Amino acid sequence: MTDRLYYHDSFLYDFDAEVRELADSPRPSLILDRSAFYPTSGGQVFDTGWILAGDPNDPTKLRVTEVAESEDGRVVHYLEAPVKDVKPGTRVHGQIDASRRRDHMQQHSGQHVLSAAFVRLFNLPTVSFHMADDYCSIDLDTPNLAREQVEFAERLANEIIFENRPVDIRFVTRDEATTLGLRKLPPAKGAPGLAGVARPGRGDELRLIDIRDFDLSACGGTHVRQTGQIGSILLRKIEKVRQGWRVEFVAGQRAVSTARRDFTTLTEAAALFSAHIYDLPQQARKSLDEIKSLRKQRERSQEELAEAQAAALLAGTPEANSRKLVVRTFSGRDLNHIKLLAQQLTRLAPNAVALLATTSPQPSLVFAQSPGQPFDMGALLKQTIAALGGRGGGSKDMAQGGVANGDGIDAALKQIAQKLSSAPAVPM
Ligand SMILES: [Zn+2]
Repeated sequence: MTDRLYYHDSFLYDFDAEVRELADSPRPSLILDRSAFYPTSGGQVFDTGWILAGDPNDPTKLRVTEVAESEDGRVVHYLEAPVKDVKPGTRVHGQIDASRRRDHMQQHSGQHVLSAAFVRLFNLPTVSFHMADDYCSIDLDTPNLAREQVEFAERLANEIIFENRPVDIRFVTRDEATTLGLRKLPPAKGAPGLAGVARPGRGDELRLIDIRDFDLSACGGTHVRQTGQIGSILLRKIEKVRQGWRVEFVAGQRAVSTARRDFTTLTEAAALFSAHIYDLPQQARKSLDEIKSLRKQRERSQEELAEAQAAALLAGTPEANSRKLVVRTFSGRDLNHIKLLAQQLTRLAPNAVALLATTSPQPSLVFAQSPGQPFDMGALLKQTIAALGGRGGGSKDMAQGGVANGDGIDAALKQIAQKLSSAPAVPM
């Protein structure tokens, strides 16, 4: 078992050790007799850093990219590249990435304070803790969670941080632990997850993190010495999850960088409206209302335009075989417009047949006839569009479809127009 130096001192960033084992596959890795590197466990993610070997004035630097716990309690240091000139017995020097460790301490200690705040205020226990690269979350065992509860818990957690209470590491036996009123009892002997809190080689001893007169939990993680070192805690999104409610939070420097990012985003959005950031919701609502009303106005105008255009087209189309055959290919008109136009043409005249198309923005066709006219627009459109390599369909009186390329549309419409104009006046 590796002697875990972080158990007693989370601020130990440098240490000396001896290599115990080496492996090249599946990934290059090292096991030491003692280590200050934290392996992923209990919701907290691993440390990174360096292992230095050889001449202290010109050491070989081995980059530690991940650290994990083996089933038998050894700490495995995964390295970026295979190791040379190092063998079991070699003395090495370990260096933890201190800013990453400090961030993890702020998040993890922040989590203990926050979880305790939810218990003290609302008796809501935390069932899991997750640490991601940019935010953390806890899952609370509760069917409901109100926004005000989140704000109360955030306020209490920050008060405990500002009071700068001592955070002590204690080791007690399991029996003793059961009498101390821990926020969360550690898993039973032999259960998974115990490795992080049971003190290796010390029988049933457990490691406790004691936030003076506020929280006592069994935990194997790295923690601050005083709550003031957490800095502050900011609660963000809450969401319903399968086992309760998830509360996202950021602590310490993350809280500052998250607030900075929020402010930058809000400032950029507010500049678009020439508004103050606090007036942004009101401005956005106003704009959305305007868009809605403009959209309605546009729909009305389009209908009016289609009606006027239909009337003009009908006036300019002579009757043949007692029907008016309107054939037109537009460009810069969408399918919706030529559909409106077809509707108006067949509404305004009892004997209209409309073969309409547009070549841009999206090549499309609409065929329509006034009710009672003899053709089958659905079948006709299907035939035409299949020949043009597109898709579409519709009913006997109205059909529509789209093609990938508008090149052959004009010629196709002329061909159908020819066919229809030679059809007899009486229904076929
Ligand atoms: Zn913990």
